[in-house]
Amino acid sequence: MKKKLVIIGAGPAGLPVASQVRKETKDIEITVLSDRNYFSYSPCGIPFVVSGMIKSFDNLIMRTPKHYEDMAISIKTNTRVTGIDTEKQVVITNKDNYPYDILVIATGVKPFVPNIPGIDLEGIYFMYSLEEAIEVERALKNSNTITIVGGGAIGLEMAYAFKKRNKDVIVIERSPHIMGSILDPDMSLIVEEYLISMGITFLKDTQVIEFEGEKGKVTTVITNEGKIKTDMVLVSVGVRPNVEMVVESGIERGVTGGLITDSCLRVRKNGIFLPNVFACGNCIEVIDGVTFRPTLSALGSTAVRQALTVAENILGTNTVYTPIVSPGVSIIGELEIGAVGVNSKRAIQNGIFPRESMAKGLTRARYFPKGEIITVKILVDKNFRLIGSQIISKEGVKGRIDSMSFMISRGVTAHQLSLIETSYVPPISSVIDPLTIAARKLIGITRDKFTLPDSMDNTT
Ligand SMILES: Cc1cc2nc3c(=O)[nH]c(=O)nc-3n(C[C@H](O)[C@H](O)[C@H](O)COP(=O)(O)OP(=O)(O)OC[C@H]3O[C@@H](n4cnc5c(N)ncnc54)[C@H](O)[C@@H]3O)c2cc1C
Repeated sequence: MKKKLVIIGAGPAGLPVASQVRKETKDIEITVLSDRNYFSYSPCGIPFVVSGMIKSFDNLIMRTPKHYEDMAISIKTNTRVTGIDTEKQVVITNKDNYPYDILVIATGVKPFVPNIPGIDLEGIYFMYSLEEAIEVERALKNSNTITIVGGGAIGLEMAYAFKKRNKDVIVIERSPHIMGSILDPDMSLIVEEYLISMGITFLKDTQVIEFEGEKGKVTTVITNEGKIKTDMVLVSVGVRPNVEMVVESGIERGVTGGLITDSCLRVRKNGIFLPNVFACGNCIEVIDGVTFRPTLSALGSTAVRQALTVAENILGTNTVYTPIVSPGVSIIGELEIGAVGVNSKRAIQNGIFPRESMAKGLTRARYFPKGEIITVKILVDKNFRLIGSQIISKEGVKGRIDSMSFMISRGVTAHQLSLIETSYVPPISSVIDPLTIAARKLIGITRDKFTLPDSMDNTT
């Protein structure tokens, strides 16, 4: 009889496990369980549909049900898992029970719902699934003023999308800076100024105290600074691992709230890593490659990489998932905002007192049309080991963030970065990369007054 692989979750973590295993073997029965209706779509594309850049939510669907049928992968939608019995090796759902030989838990995250009176009113959204994005799109037609609670990356991507749809947008952020979990205050200001120039209003250092409504629908946001009339609210204040049901079955979670796994991504129960139960995606905790402490990653890119590790281990290759530095880029309007490793706040929280350096450059040779200013920041620890980087520009961010990701995860120092060889061609670069300039400043080769962009392109 064929072995049974059951996967809980049909997101960017669950589905690649199914596909990868199936590509390598036909000798296993694969069932994927999801409590949602839609699957195999890109949540990352939602803000771009709302802004109008992508035509329809249909474009976000990556694979059809037929694709999975053809691969002999059975996907059961609207099927909520209510329990896991690891002794009897069976998954219990609101419909049937599914026996397994190998189980993968990929239940993702759920939005954090703050305990604010009125949070249940109609017109308040959280936006973590395609189903909810479709509801938001419907509600947009009757909404002119939209309040966003939380100035993180997703909240701001959505703020820009709503502004593009000619809505009045107010962002309420309880801390003094937006995107504070990944950016330092000086870098955060660049994003804020850009969004203000787009017509978005910010209320920082401001706490939401209550939502008021009429006939069950939100009309007012009450803050410690006053009242705001609103037609719709998007609450985007973070996510939490979606693991309650899993933990009830005895599988252990760590200090971050994510599931504990070994380096091959097997889960732990009663102190023992279960040989046939894996977990991957945003529901697990992983090791941070800078602080070497447990951390969470709410990135789709991390979820897919973990899925590949799990698939390889199911196929018997003993693959290890190494610590992460979470490179990420957000695109807000024309602005690309990248960050990797830790920012100053997180470094200090973890007992690392960083030295930092910032440089500005041009993304193209000075004489080349349409060059953009690029602002880079690097952080190092006391041994000058690179621990973080933040980069903002209208182009050229992703490649630099990815190269910093490699350097940070390999323990490269600012001295080594200052000597790195980079390529040059006028339409897409300047002779000395701003990251090299930042490293040179940090180790004292280049003085602060060697500023860019003018002195940068002095050769070609
Ligand atoms: C608006 C938006 C923009 C984003 N942009 C980016 C980006 O640009 N780059 C990036 O890297 N990441 C981005 N992300 C994050 C990315 O989407 C997530 O990291 C990714 O979806 C996580 O994948 P996952 O499979 O771990 O979890 P999820 O995608 O949350 O999938 C979880 C799955 O588990 C199922 N499930 C949960 N509980 C149960 C249960 N009890 N029974 C049955 N099924 C269950 C769900 O139905 C779902 O199928 C964005 C997210 C959003 C919302």
